[in-house]
Amino acid sequence: MQHGTLPAGAFRAAAVLATVVVALLVGCSNTPDEPETKTELLLGTTVTVRIYEGAEDRIFERVFERVKEIEERMSTDEEDYDNTELLEVNRNAGGRPVRVSEDTFHVVERALEYSRLSEGAFDVSIGPLVKLWGIGTERAGVPEQEKIEEILPRVDYSLVELDPEEQTIRLPDEGMALDVGAIAKGYAADEAARILTEAGVEHALLDFGGNIITVGHKPDGSPWKIGIQNPLEERGRFLGIVENGPMTVVTSGDYERNFEENDVRYHHIIDGDTGKPARTGLSSVTILTEDSTEADALSTALYVMGVERGAALAEELDGIEAAFVTKDRKVYMTRGMSEHFEITNEGFEVVDLEEAIAAAAEHRRRRR
Ligand code: AMP
Ligand code: MG
Repeated sequence: MQHGTLPAGAFRAAAVLATVVVALLVGCSNTPDEPETKTELLLGTTVTVRIYEGAEDRIFERVFERVKEIEERMSTDEEDYDNTELLEVNRNAGGRPVRVSEDTFHVVERALEYSRLSEGAFDVSIGPLVKLWGIGTERAGVPEQEKIEEILPRVDYSLVELDPEEQTIRLPDEGMALDVGAIAKGYAADEAARILTEAGVEHALLDFGGNIITVGHKPDGSPWKIGIQNPLEERGRFLGIVENGPMTVVTSGDYERNFEENDVRYHHIIDGDTGKPARTGLSSVTILTEDSTEADALSTALYVMGVERGAALAEELDGIEAAFVTKDRKVYMTRGMSEHFEITNEGFEVVDLEEAIAAAAEHRRRRR
């Protein structure tokens, strides 16, 4: 069995042996001042904060303490944590409501919003399936179909009970479990960017294991250039470069955490309908927008939805641009995305998303 590079559970920092920087900053600042950079293993990935100017005392500590606080509240990794707010929620499934911090309540509330928007493609109650597959852990393996079927009815975001007055979360059925691994990195990145902005930092770049968020422009006023990982090649090989002003750019892909069994690769993004890693012909989805929490949730959601359904959802939402990379080396981009994302790898064919969808609809109409 061959393991991928990310560790057990969404937040397991200790076991990150290889860096999982899906996207990297391309080139350096043109100013003579070198940025100050700090990296820690948090949220199950490598978190890098790079401040180009205006780093006041203790700013790095403040940012990393905040990220750690989010991890300690929301991790569902029992190997790293005896207890967290979400573990408490999960352990009381079928029983009492659990009071949580405003932070956790907010993230679960937003996760539910994206669960609804994506009609369960993103499903915050995916926990039991994530645990069953154990992808990224030592025990990763293909479960018996019977086990999957037994668990499927417990994956249903619409059953999650939130009480905003009491700030409680309740899971009505035993065996249900929340997992915010697909959204918490984005939330932490938003929080880190907020702290930096409030502290007066004008130029910074944050990389939360491929969730990139920028603060301001580069010090010389030019746009940021972010390299996007080629999902079909080894780490550090770019598919292309996203160039923009303040933004967040977030990628979900099958290369991040996976294992192989009998020549089949099983990855970490699970389709709640089948109970198995999503198979939509995609290798990755990249979202470009301003809110990293939203970008994180949507990159996962659109990966599960596939090109057509995913594009329809991206279209519905304001300010969301998307790029879908298929296993057969096509890149489908929304118009807005193609204005910022230059595919530099010649092995890929760029396809205009709107045109592709119109052609598919026409094809279906003719066949009817
Ligand atoms: P991301 O890398 O943001 O796409 O998030 C993937 C992580 O989210 C996985 O490691 C799981 O912890 C969790 N996850 C897997 N499948 C789903 C899903 N369909 N909906 C929500 N979270 C998921
Ligand atoms: Mg995500």
